[in-house]
Amino acid sequence: MSSILRIALSAPVYGLFDYLPPGNVPVERLTPGQRLLVPFGHAERCGILVSLSDQASVARHKLRAAHAILDETPLLSKEHLAFLCWVADYYHHPPGEVLLSALPVRLRKGKPPLLPRPDRIRICTTDAETIAALARRAPRQWQLLDWLHKQGGSASMSELRRRFDNVHGVVRALRSKGMISLGMADESTAAPLQQPAFTMELEQAQAVAAVTSRLGQYQAFLLDGVTGSGKTEVYLRLAQQVLEQGRSVLFLVPEISLTPQLIRRLEKRLPGPMAVLHSGRSDREREQAWQLARKSQARVILGTRSAVLAPIPDLGLVLVDEEHDSSYKQQEGFRYSARDMALVRAQRADCPVLLGSATPSLESLKNAMDGRYGWLRLTRRAGKAQSPRMQLLDIRNQRLQGGLSPALLLALEEVLSRGRQAMVFLNRRGYAPVLTCYSCGWLSDCPRCDARQTMHRRQGKLVCHHCGNERSLPQHCPSCGSPELHPLGQGTEQLEQILQQRFPEHPLVRIDRDAASTKGSLDQLLAQARDGRASLLVGTQMLAKGHHFPGVALVTLVDVDGGLFGADFRAAERMAQLIIQVAGRAGRGKHPGRVLMQTRFPDHPLLQTLVNEDYAAFAREALKERVQAELPPCSFQTLIRASATRAETAEGFLQQAAALVKKMADQEIQVWGPVPAPMQKRAGRYRSHLLLQAGQRNLLQRFLGAFVPALSSLPDAGRVRWSVDVDPLDLY
Ligand code: ADP
Ligand code: ZN
Ligand code: ZN
Repeated sequence: MSSILRIALSAPVYGLFDYLPPGNVPVERLTPGQRLLVPFGHAERCGILVSLSDQASVARHKLRAAHAILDETPLLSKEHLAFLCWVADYYHHPPGEVLLSALPVRLRKGKPPLLPRPDRIRICTTDAETIAALARRAPRQWQLLDWLHKQGGSASMSELRRRFDNVHGVVRALRSKGMISLGMADESTAAPLQQPAFTMELEQAQAVAAVTSRLGQYQAFLLDGVTGSGKTEVYLRLAQQVLEQGRSVLFLVPEISLTPQLIRRLEKRLPGPMAVLHSGRSDREREQAWQLARKSQARVILGTRSAVLAPIPDLGLVLVDEEHDSSYKQQEGFRYSARDMALVRAQRADCPVLLGSATPSLESLKNAMDGRYGWLRLTRRAGKAQSPRMQLLDIRNQRLQGGLSPALLLALEEVLSRGRQAMVFLNRRGYAPVLTCYSCGWLSDCPRCDARQTMHRRQGKLVCHHCGNERSLPQHCPSCGSPELHPLGQGTEQLEQILQQRFPEHPLVRIDRDAASTKGSLDQLLAQARDGRASLLVGTQMLAKGHHFPGVALVTLVDVDGGLFGADFRAAERMAQLIIQVAGRAGRGKHPGRVLMQTRFPDHPLLQTLVNEDYAAFAREALKERVQAELPPCSFQTLIRASATRAETAEGFLQQAAALVKKMADQEIQVWGPVPAPMQKRAGRYRSHLLLQAGQRNLLQRFLGAFVPALSSLPDAGRVRWSVDVDPLDLY
C-alpha cells in the first residue's frame, strides 16, 4: 500500500518532502495534484501532493502526518504536474518553488479557490436618444458608456476601476437605469464576431496551410515575417480552426502593454471567453482567469511569460509572438524561458507551436535552418504598406542640440509640417544618465552599485536604475559645494523638453516606464499615439514593441552606438533586433516610412548590413561568428552566479564550485571563471560568475543533475547567495 505522501513545498530544497496521510483520511481520497496543509518546523505550510510512494527517504517513525486535504479534486492534472516537474528538472530548480509558483497567489497560500463571481459589465442599451440625453445630464455615466462601447460593448469591473474614479457609483446608476448589466466573465461577449474585409496574401495563406496540416501533432514553426507582414492574421486564422475543433489556444506575448490592443482584436475574431493572465491584473482576476483555463471554460489563454505554466487541458496550438524578446526569460528566482517551455508544452500536448518574429533569435533561426522547425516566411508587408527606407546620419563633428543633429531636426520638421506623425526613440529614460560637477569632476555615482544615478529632473531626484537607490537632486556639488552641476548626455525626459520647445504647436506624448507608471496610463498614452492625437512620439523600447501606429511616417533613433560594442556576445543581436523593431513602426499605413539613425560609427558592419541589406543578412553573419566561437546556439551554457557583501566570499564559493566541476566532470564540460560580473557591485553586493559550457545539451543536463544538488554542500554555500541559470540570456 502506497501511503507515503511525496509533497512539494516552497523551499530552496532540491527534492520533495515525505509525510503520512492526515490521521483520519483513507489513502483513497488522496490524488496527486491536490493541495495539503502540512506541519513544517513549528509552522504550517501549503504543499502539493506529487506522488504516493511506499518508501520514505527517512525512517518511518520520523515522518509526520499531513494536517488536512485542501482540495477534494486535484488542482493540477497528472499531465500538468508531470510537465511542471519536467520544467523543475530541466532548470535544476527546487521543484516545490516551481510547482507553487505555477499556482495563483491565493491558492499558493492555501486559501480556498474563489467562487466565480459576476465581474463583467455589458452595455444593454443602444438607443441613441437616451445616450445623447445622458451626455448632457450625467457626463460621467456617458463617459463610461462611451468607453465601454469603444471596447466592443463589455469590460471587466476591474478594468473599469483602473480607468475611472469612483466607478461603483457610476455603475450603480447605470445599472438602475437598465443601461448596463453585470454578468459572469465566461459568458461570451454579446458583440458579434467580425471578419476582416481583406483576403490573405499568398505567403500568409501558405503559412496557415503549413500549420493546419500539422494540427493534432507536434511540430515547431518559425513564422519569420517582416514587421507589418500580417503575422497576427496568421495566428488568428489558426486559432479559429483550433477552436472549431474544440481545443484550446495558448497565445504568449512579451509585454503587458501589448495585451489591451490584442484583446480587442482577438475578441472581435474568436468566439467564446478568453482568459487573460499577466502581472498587470489583480491576484483575484488572475485566479479567475487561471480557473477558466483549467476548467476549459475559456479556450483562448492570452498572457505574458508565466502563462506558459497555466493548466490548459486539450491544448491544440501554442503561439509565441515576438519570440526573440528577452522578457520571455525570467531573470530572477526561478529562471526559465517561456519561449523554450512553450515548445516543450506543445511537444507534450502533441500540437503545433508557432514562434513569430520579424527579428528571430539566432537560436530559432538555427533550428529553422537545420530543418528542426518549419520555416514560414512573410517577406512583404501586408496590404498596401511598404517597407521603410533606412538611412544613417553621421553625427561626427556635428553641432548637436540635446543630442539631436540639425539633419534629424530638419527631417522631423518636414514630416510634422506635412501633418504626419514622427517618432523619436532613445533607450534611456530620465533626464540625463549622469550629473556631474564642472568644478571638481564629481559624478552621480550610486553608493550601492558600480553605476551612475540617473537624473530625473521633474521628480527632482537622482535614481539608480539598477537598485532603485535614490536621493533628491542636489543644488550644490556634494563634494566641493560648487553650484556648477550639469547633466551629461540625454534621456527621454530631456528629449521631451527640447522637442516641445522646438515644436510647440505639435502635441507630444512620451512613452517610457516613468510616464506609464500609474495605472492605466500606458494604455491612454498608447491610444494618443495610435489615433494621431499626438504627432510627436518620444520614448524607449516601450514604443518599439509590436505596436501598430498607422500614421507614423518617420522614425528616428537618437543613439544606436551604445549597443555596438557591448561586452555580452549577444549585444549585436539585441541591437539589430531593436533597430529593426523600432524601424518597423514607420510607414505601417498607406504612406511609406523613413528611418534615420544617428551614429558616430557609420562604417560599422552591423549598421551597414542592416541599412544596405536586411536582418536576415545580419543574422547569417552573426550565426557564422557563433559557430566559429562555439557560442550558443552552437553550444549550451549554464551560468552559476554568486553574490556576497565581500567580493572574496563570492569568488571563493565559485572557486570551490569550479574545483567540484573538475572533480566530477569529464573533459566535455568547459569551465570559465570565476570572474567578477561585468557590473561587479550591485545593490551593495559583489557578484561573481562561473560559466559552464558543453557542445551538447544533454551532456550539460546530465552533469548538472549531479552537480547542482552538490553545490549546496560546498563549504561556503551558506555564506553567499547563489543561483543556477540554465541557458542564460544575460551574462551581466
Ligand atoms: P505583424 O503582426 O506582422 O506586425 P499585423 O498582423 O499586425 O502584422 O498586420 C499589420 C496590418 O496589416 C494590420 O492592420 C492588419 O489588419 C493588416 N493586414 C494583415 N493581413 C492583411 C492582408 N492580407 N491584407 C491587408 N491587410 C492586412
Ligand atoms: Zn564639485
Ligand atoms: Zn544602485
